[in-house]
Amino acid sequence: MPDYQRIKKELEGIAVEDNPALVRQKSRDFYWYSPILKAQFENVTADLVVTPKTEEEVIRTLKVAYAHDVPVTPRGAGTGNYGQAMPLSGGIVLNLAAMNGIKEIHPGRVICEPGIVIAELDRQAKAHSGQELRFHPSTAQTATIGGFIAGGSGGVGSITWGGLRDLGNILRLRVVTMEAEPRVLDLTGWDLTKVSHAYGTNGIITEIEMPLAPAYDWVDVLVGYDDFMDAVRFSDALAKCNGILVKEIAPIAAPIPQDYFTRHKPFIRQGQSIVALMIAPHSMDPFLAFTMQQKGEITFRSDKMESMKGIPHAYELAWNHTTLRAIKVDPSITYLQVQYPGPDHVAKVRKMVEIFGDEVPGHLEFIKFDGQIQCSGLPLVRYTSEARLEEIIRIHQDHGCPIFNPHRYTLEEGGMKQTDAVQLAFKRETDPKGLLNPGKMIAWDDPNFDFKSGKNYLFPGLAALM
Ligand code: FAD
Repeated sequence: MPDYQRIKKELEGIAVEDNPALVRQKSRDFYWYSPILKAQFENVTADLVVTPKTEEEVIRTLKVAYAHDVPVTPRGAGTGNYGQAMPLSGGIVLNLAAMNGIKEIHPGRVICEPGIVIAELDRQAKAHSGQELRFHPSTAQTATIGGFIAGGSGGVGSITWGGLRDLGNILRLRVVTMEAEPRVLDLTGWDLTKVSHAYGTNGIITEIEMPLAPAYDWVDVLVGYDDFMDAVRFSDALAKCNGILVKEIAPIAAPIPQDYFTRHKPFIRQGQSIVALMIAPHSMDPFLAFTMQQKGEITFRSDKMESMKGIPHAYELAWNHTTLRAIKVDPSITYLQVQYPGPDHVAKVRKMVEIFGDEVPGHLEFIKFDGQIQCSGLPLVRYTSEARLEEIIRIHQDHGCPIFNPHRYTLEEGGMKQTDAVQLAFKRETDPKGLLNPGKMIAWDDPNFDFKSGKNYLFPGLAALM
């Protein structure tokens, strides 16, 4: 057991918290979305929370942790869904929320610290020069930009710009390594894939350069259809309209809007499926013409409301907020993350709707994927048992709809079900003792793990807590 009193002394001058209740609070994220992770992670907690204010303090903390063999799990705002920010081996939670400054804003790009909340970054960039991030997660009001890069994938704006994995959507990352003498590395180009979406397993991001786009006063719109598949076809056609500038297109099946969108309920008829949209103000006229042609019913427009007080942003009905709103009303609900590879993505969605009906109510996000319009899904699941969940996953996969499993905490099982050789090689270089966010990279812990075996990985440190 490391000597935490001594470690605290060595970290003197840096904010350190060891009150067990507060440490436990900062050792949690949104893992409880999954009934499976909820059961596994109940007893997970760190020993200390360290909150550095500068890169210098990050370096000092990693140096001390390395010397004492203490694990370090970075944390932004803890809104990740798969336990990414949970310290499975205890140790230090490195809370980056106090490193929240913007350093420079230029035409088309911003340089900032990792802990800035995304909506605040957008607010400052808009005030400075009418710019905003190209896309953001639906948690923009609380999540940090560093956590998004290390744990997220895409979001509101991905219909135009694709996701974080697309070259050019992150410009530069500065990363501190976990070694006896931590190094500071600047990564650009393909090297960015070493640390983006690596859950902080191979370096702490201390500075970020992101591209910006023109900012607009986006208009929130809901379009209603009596049939979910009509809403899906409308969304697909709108996404392919070259001239209409949209930031968000999310078809959501009945009864989700009526049952779970409490603030928007007055604008949605019983049995109506909706499309949640964000439209640039100057695109509203062509958008309305298009919607009329497609026989869509405009049920809500933020630009026609006297007051938006108490009404959430349209994007807070979409992405994983759809799931959050459902769970708040019915805690037994969970969800999946599905891909419907094109060009027959609409047909694939229809097949899944036919098979599962209301057991898996539909929710799609239209995105640009390798230059093509596609949709991914975050359908709800009326959860009954782990066995049935596995069966639902299998049926999707049998129909050519891959699942990115949100009920797993490892990079591999939540992603491509294979070792990411680039991230693994980088970890060998930057974290030789394997102290950064232990348990999240199977290839590090168990190089021989057979991803085709059908078995789920259980991190030994976690098994000890269960
Ligand atoms: P955290 O949860 O704190 O951390 C995420 C991961 O990054 C962890 O592994 C952590 O260890 C690591 N990390 C954090 N900071 C650093 C750093 N400086 N250096 C290295 N590693 C670091 N995700 C999307 O991609 N798109 C969405 O639209 C979206 N919608 C969501 C909606 C809801 C309601 C919820 C609950 C989640 C959603 N998510 C979404 C997931 C999550 O909110 C986002 O990925 C978010 O950006 C994470 O930011 P965070 O600051 O909360 O990161």
